[in-house]
Amino acid sequence: MSHRVLIIGAGGVGRVVTHKCAQLPEVFGEIMLASRNQAKCDGIAAELKRPIQTAAVDADQASEVAALLRRFKPEVVIHVALPYQDLAIMDACLEAGVHYIDTANYEPRDVAKFEYHWQWAYQERFAKAGLTALLGCGFDPGVTNVYTAYALKHHFSRVDTLDIIDCNAGDHGKAFATNFNPEINLREVTANGRYWENGAWVETKPLEIKRSFSFPEGIGPKNIYCLYHEELESLTKHIPMRRARFWMTFGDAYIKHMEVLVNVGMTRIDPVLHKGVPIIPIEFLKTLLPEPGTLGPDTKGKTCIGNWIEGQGKDGKPLRYYVYNICDHQDCYRETNSQGVSYTTGVPAMIAAKQLLTNPAEYRQAGVWNLEQLNPDPFMADLNAHGLPWVETWPQQPLPGEPS
Ligand code: NDP
Repeated sequence: MSHRVLIIGAGGVGRVVTHKCAQLPEVFGEIMLASRNQAKCDGIAAELKRPIQTAAVDADQASEVAALLRRFKPEVVIHVALPYQDLAIMDACLEAGVHYIDTANYEPRDVAKFEYHWQWAYQERFAKAGLTALLGCGFDPGVTNVYTAYALKHHFSRVDTLDIIDCNAGDHGKAFATNFNPEINLREVTANGRYWENGAWVETKPLEIKRSFSFPEGIGPKNIYCLYHEELESLTKHIPMRRARFWMTFGDAYIKHMEVLVNVGMTRIDPVLHKGVPIIPIEFLKTLLPEPGTLGPDTKGKTCIGNWIEGQGKDGKPLRYYVYNICDHQDCYRETNSQGVSYTTGVPAMIAAKQLLTNPAEYRQAGVWNLEQLNPDPFMADLNAHGLPWVETWPQQPLPGEPS
């Protein structure tokens, strides 16, 4: 049986979700892509081999989204606009009786805070309405949550430490650009770092902790920086562990540009008066930077995102495990006209919707869920089937910088 899906957000990730859903007509029979700017939706629709519908919607307005939902009558919304719209779209889904999927947790515009409590507060309302909300269904959060659940289900009797390591070894040929929405990216990277240890958060200065990690399959050594990432909150809530950290690679040129932008105030998120007109510097900066969706043709190289987990194996012995995916930017572009960061986010969002629609017993339970709370096996199988194959390894050496 095929289903109706509404995708909101015609950016880099929205393009991938739309391409991937269009590739599966037996699951996604009717597709609508809606965004602030309908022309962008039409541009993506024109790239596809089958027709889809498009619409304009301001997703900050729950009533506008609800009206669109009542008109198109989808079973599920895949929300890949911006995190600012999460609550408005969840409200609209409740009003119109539609399931909800997103890839990033709610953030108020005026504080850079990545926390789930706003969305977890919808638990009772979704449960009562018999609706499902699947939160954080990109790669990180998303696949990294599924990797952790899979490791615990199949390999570990206890997880001691989790290190999520995200490497983008791609080069887009620009002096400075971000691979996903610049505003969200810069808010994330310039915030204080935080990791979980012994039942509490340990705060760090932005990018204070730096290590070198040698990535597999020819990528080689890169600097990785410890920063806060939203899946740490849900993973440490749902799976007991002593320590959980998130690491991301940044090239020296990226860090240099970012330092200057921070120092001159261009990443500020509070309004400043410019010639009597209030502007928010980071929003103006976004206007100047290349749109992530336009980086596809020139981005070359690979991404590698994975989980390094240590703990006690099913046999009671110490176990060290590293599971990862490698994605090639140019392969992603050939398939979906998008670079690898959009691809690695959009494919899992499509898989979450596919699971919700076709595997109701496991993925359509009423309530608000993070992916580690659901059976990881069908999701892991779909990752292999739909472009994000994973590799399991059993490292002999500890993570660089850790005692052996
Ligand atoms: P983009 O900026 O490329 O795209 C966002 C899209 O949303 C744009 O088309 C934009 O419209 C549209 N939009 C913004 N505001 C509204 C609104 N009020 N109503 C309707 N549409 C709106 O971002 P990305 O595609 O790179 O990222 C999409 C989402 O994915 C973000 O939430 C990001 O945080 C998340 N993400 C998650 C990752 C993960 O692994 N979990 C990794 C990377 C991203 P316009 O074109 O007019 O500006």
